[in-house]
Amino acid sequence: MINNCISLPPKALVANWETLTRTFIRPESEEAKETLIKYMEQILFGLQEFLREHVGITEEKSLKELAELFSDASLPLVPEKMLAEVITDLVQDIAPHAVNVASPYFVGHMTAAIPFFMVHLKTITAALNQNVVKLETSKVVSILEKQLLAKIHRLVYQQSKGFYDTHVQNTETALGCFTEDGTIANITALWVARNRLFGPKPGFEGIEKEGVVAAYKAYDIDRSVVLVSCLAHYSLQKAGGILGIGNKNVVAIDVDSNYRLDMDHLRRTLGSLRSEGRTKIVAIVGLAGATETGTIDPLREIADICLEQDIHFHADGAWGGPTLLSGKYKHLLDGIQYADSVTIDGHKQFYMPMGCGMVYFKEPTALDAIAYHSRYINRPGSVDLGIKSLSGSREANSLILDSALKIMGTNGYGLLIEHSIQVAREFAEEIQSRPDFELTSPQVLNILTYRFFPKALKQRLKKEDDKGKKRLYEGLNDINITIQRNQREAGNSFVSRTTLKGTEDWPEDRVVLRVVIMNPMTDIDILREILDEQENIYRQEKRK
Ligand SMILES: *Cc1c(COP(=O)(O)O)cnc(C)c1O
Repeated sequence: MINNCISLPPKALVANWETLTRTFIRPESEEAKETLIKYMEQILFGLQEFLREHVGITEEKSLKELAELFSDASLPLVPEKMLAEVITDLVQDIAPHAVNVASPYFVGHMTAAIPFFMVHLKTITAALNQNVVKLETSKVVSILEKQLLAKIHRLVYQQSKGFYDTHVQNTETALGCFTEDGTIANITALWVARNRLFGPKPGFEGIEKEGVVAAYKAYDIDRSVVLVSCLAHYSLQKAGGILGIGNKNVVAIDVDSNYRLDMDHLRRTLGSLRSEGRTKIVAIVGLAGATETGTIDPLREIADICLEQDIHFHADGAWGGPTLLSGKYKHLLDGIQYADSVTIDGHKQFYMPMGCGMVYFKEPTALDAIAYHSRYINRPGSVDLGIKSLSGSREANSLILDSALKIMGTNGYGLLIEHSIQVAREFAEEIQSRPDFELTSPQVLNILTYRFFPKALKQRLKKEDDKGKKRLYEGLNDINITIQRNQREAGNSFVSRTTLKGTEDWPEDRVVLRVVIMNPMTDIDILREILDEQENIYRQEKRK
């Protein structure tokens, strides 16, 4: 252990049947009950206390030192520790060297503080240990999941009450499914799109059964593609690989100067694919909140093209989907209601614990394209949710989300969204008011990119020839890499870094700093401190 707290247990621990069986049986004595409650207290308050006191992001210990402490690959033969000790170890020795994602200074990624009640809800799902792969191991929980799927489907698609009355508990149809994460949600959406495009026809039993080679032969083509923004999440490339489409056939379309899918480039690409011939389009993906920039593709225009050309339209709202919960900002996602499928992550802006993804389908029968049955579970016509899902066994995440929605109300979630967008707007203004910074993508949602760009360099740029400019750009990228790295290593705050591909307005690739604002405790003062620290890092580096 890190602190070497090897206080030996009073008597050596042995694995015997009696102690083992006791861990499976609810404790009967008052004393044992109290002990168990005390352990939960330690988890709830010990960790909470730690997260409050520990304002930095992580302890100084280097990855190398940590790796050395964790390099013994032997399994314990006999019991080493009792529960109390293990919990203490986790709270005292592991947590400080993990990342304090709950810190309001941790603004680099889509992982942050969660409401305290999520820990209770997560504990309940663990205690119940339902398996929603089938009704026989979940019963009412599967039924509740269908209800919640209908509620979120309604948030996205706004169909009639009659539609939801028909489908909410319909064992034949499915409005969506829960997945482990957004990656699997995106894969599921494209899996459905692929199977529907290459469905059975005379002499061909469908791509799911016969595979890609037979499908291309049956449909007389050589290639199929998915069209995505160059800012699309890399899970879509994984989908291309897994689905046999080939990830080089997940074709990146340029973005315009506002980092939205360039519709002209999309139309030109569709045109040239058509004239090439022998190619089918599996789907066009629109971003409802890009991972790197938070920008939103022109969803309505993409929907029009997809409708016109009969192409599957997938909207990736893994991050941005919950914006629909804000009356003030839901208009930003206008057009999402026309998408054939929509991905939304629970562990992002629904503030759920890791990990929860979801995918919704406009058509209640879309998921039939990936249905699987088995002899011992998931028999045709049952409510078994595992029939139409990539995963097998999985936890009852719907219990957590449904309860969270009851506790927060859509208004509560709406407030969180609105607050973070407001803070992002103030932060964008602050960046623009500082002469040594530059905002590199427009503020749309609550994700921003910007970079350190000293005023003196901005002026010098005007005088440089092409070669000089190139050198200056490279230097600028190095500066931003150094700032981000040094700030991360100092451990007081964290922003992330990415590279934005050149656009028409700015042809060079730019290394930029990236901030994701989702922690309600992150305010403009904290963000100013973060910018100050970045300025200081630059000055220190310059002096070297
Ligand atoms: C986060 C994200 C994903 C992937 O989600 P995971 O839950 O990390 O697998 C996909 N698309 C977008 C736009 C995302 O922001």
